[in-house]
Order: sequence, then C-alpha cells, then structure tokens
Amino acid sequence: MADIDTRLVQCRACPRLVTWREQVARDKRASYRDQDYWGAPVPSFGSADPDILIIGLAPGAHGANRTGRMFTGDRSGDWLFGSLHRVGLAASATSTSREDGQHLDRVRITAAVHCAPPDNKPTPQEGATCAAWLDREVALLAPAVLIPLGGIAWRATLATLSRIGWPVPRPRPAFAHGAEVILAGTVAPTLIIGSYHPSQQNTFTGRLTERMLDAVFLRAREHADASRG
Ligand code: SF4
Repeated sequence: MADIDTRLVQCRACPRLVTWREQVARDKRASYRDQDYWGAPVPSFGSADPDILIIGLAPGAHGANRTGRMFTGDRSGDWLFGSLHRVGLAASATSTSREDGQHLDRVRITAAVHCAPPDNKPTPQEGATCAAWLDREVALLAPAVLIPLGGIAWRATLATLSRIGWPVPRPRPAFAHGAEVILAGTVAPTLIIGSYHPSQQNTFTGRLTERMLDAVFLRAREHADASRG
C-alpha cells in the first residue's frame, strides 16, 4: 500500500481536477490563508491491513485538499470521526491535521475519487479514471466490510468489486442507508453496508443522524469481529 500511496499522490491523470485542486490550494479560503494547502491527490488514511474500508466520494476543496488527509478539516470529517470514536473505531473524536495524533487501528478511509472536484462533483470520466486506484486497493486489502458513503460511492464500490472478480449479485443491489450485501463466495463472507454520506446537506437536514451513522459502524464492527473468529 505504501508504494501505491507514493504513486497516487503524484497522479495527474485528470486535467480538470489537477487544475482545480492546485487553483484552490493557491487561492485558499480567507480563514486558512496562513496555511499551506496539500493541493494534490489525497491518499487513503488508516490501517494498512483493515477489517473495515470506508469509501467516500472525493476530498473536500478546503478539507482534505487542504490538510492532505481524508475527511480531515471539515464538517463531514467531524461527523465521521465522531461516530468512529463513539463506537470504538478511532483513537479520538476529531481529525484536524496530519499531525493531530488521530489513529485508526482497524479502519481505512479511501474515496472513489482522490482529487477535490469543483462543486464536489467528479465527472463520470474522472470517476472511471480514478477507479483504477480503488481496484488495486480493494484487491490488495480484501477487507471484511466495505462501507460506501452515498449512492455514487456505492455504485463505484460494486463496480470495483465486479472488475476484480468478486461475486457481486446481478442485478446490482440498490443503494439505501443501512442496505446490506453479503458476498458469500469470498474467502470469508464480505459485508457491504451502505450509509448516507455525512455531508452537511444530509446532517443539517436530519436525513443522517448520529444514531444512524453509529448503527452502521456498530454493524460493521460486529461483522468484522465475527470474521476474525
Ligand atoms: Fe489521479 Fe484520481 Fe486525481 Fe484523477 S482523481 S488525477 S485519477 S488521483
């Protein structure tokens, strides 16, 4: 994984995203004007041998694209790490910088797209280009549980699993919060659980509550524990 991460952070395969991530890093938000933005592809964060792989959509322009760590430095990250900490899967409840001491023992956080897109919306072509990184990561790690955050990540995850030869049901299962798919043909049964993305759009409106997110991670931990035997 270290070799993949080293190559990932140098990737310039998507011209629009390269321009955007670097422009945001130069222009900066006024409240962060004294900080050095990362402004590059954001590598996955957490365990190199995880039981649980969380798949986000893409780095936030002033969150992960600023700090260089997935879900770090914005409101979505506050929700995600707060929940992981409440269920015992993260060392602390906050994630503010790459030097804050946060640690994930059993969890790894990746994304369908590793560069910040304008309006948080990667194009289908950008999603398809970046999928090669997710394919490599999932094939290497073979986690017991995958948690895509939101419908785009759900579809990207199922597409990745199909490409790397895992037994994804046909027709492909639809996304819903709490939707579960068990891939029974894998070495140990792999569980996919869908969750709404902890975006402000979902959390401010109450579409996603802390209890709903905690329930997803508790279920993931339960399955991962059972898989370990
Ligand atoms: Fe490379 Fe993915 Fe960034 Fe595109 S989105 S430039 S494929 S890391």
